[in-house]
Amino acid sequence: MSDFFYAGIDIGGTTAKVGLVDNYGSIIEKTQVKTLKTGNWKKIIDDYVKPIEGWIKSGKNVVGIGLGGPGAFDKNKKMLVTCVNIPELKDAPIISYLEEKFNLPVMGDNDATCAAAGEHIFGAGKKYENFLFVTVGTGVGGGLILNNSVFRGRDGFAGEFGHMTIVPDGLLCSCGNRGCIESYASATAIINNIKTGIQRGTITTYGDVDLADIDARLIFTKAQAGDKDSINAVDNAAKHLGMIIGSVINLLNLDAVIIGGGVAQAGNYFIDRIKYYCEQTAWPSFMKGLPIISAQLLNDAGIFGAASLIIEAQSEKH
Ligand SMILES: [Zn+2]
Repeated sequence: MSDFFYAGIDIGGTTAKVGLVDNYGSIIEKTQVKTLKTGNWKKIIDDYVKPIEGWIKSGKNVVGIGLGGPGAFDKNKKMLVTCVNIPELKDAPIISYLEEKFNLPVMGDNDATCAAAGEHIFGAGKKYENFLFVTVGTGVGGGLILNNSVFRGRDGFAGEFGHMTIVPDGLLCSCGNRGCIESYASATAIINNIKTGIQRGTITTYGDVDLADIDARLIFTKAQAGDKDSINAVDNAAKHLGMIIGSVINLLNLDAVIIGGGVAQAGNYFIDRIKYYCEQTAWPSFMKGLPIISAQLLNDAGIFGAASLIIEAQSEKH
C-alpha cells in the first residue's frame, strides 16, 4: 500500500461509486452514494464527495480526485455539456467547485474514456502505448489511448466509437443519426434482434420464454449451445463491430484492442467472433500479433478509471 491515494467518483444515474485507489492498483476504500434528486447540482456533488472528506479527515493522503460522468465532458469548459441521466449536472462547474473545495487537482471525463484510462494504468492495457477501448453494454462506447495517453481531441469528446456510421441510411440511433454502430452491436440491439424474430414468428427456438426475460446472457448461452438464431444475432453484432474495429486498426495501426462492458463479459465467444470479422477488414500486416482482449477491470472499473485520470495527468507532466 502506498502512502498516497487517488480518489475516484464513478457517477451514475441512480448511484455514484466512490473509492480510494493506491499507487499499486488496490482499492482501499469504497462506498456507494445515492444520486440525490434535488434539482441542485451542488447538493448532488457535495453528497458524492462526503466519503472523500471523511477519508481525508481520518488521515488518508489524497492527492487528487477524478470523476467519470455519463455524458460528454468538455475539457476546455471543464464540465459535462450533456448528461441525460442527471440533467442537474449539465453545464455545472463541478470541476472548479471541487478544486476550490479540496484545494487538490480534480479532473473529469466521459465514463468510457475513464474506463480506457483505467485499463491503461491498471488493467489489460498496461503494456500498450496505442489501443482502442470499446465498451459493449446497453450502448456502445469507446476510448482511445494514443502515444501512452488519453486522446481527447479538440473539445474532449473524442472516442465516440458507438456513433461511427456503419450502415448508410441505416437504423435510427438514440443520437439522432442513422446507421451508428451502437444500433447494430449493443446488447440492446442483440436483444431486439431476437425479440423481433420471436414476434414475427421467424424465431421459434426460445419456446415459452417471456419476452421480458430475454437478456444478452441468455442469448449468448443459447448461441454457445449451438442455437442457430442466437448465433446469427450475436454474429450480426460481432460482424458490425469487427468491421468498424478493423477500419480503426487500418487508420491507427494500433497495438491492441480491449473490449469491455456487460456483453464482453460473456467471455471469449463474442470476442473471437469480433476478431474473425476484424480480420476481414484490417490488413493482415496490421493484424499480425495484435491482441483483441477482454477488459480486466470489472466491477470497480469506474472507480479505477476516474482515479486514473489524475495518474495520467501527473505522468504527462513528467
Ligand atoms: Zn448514434
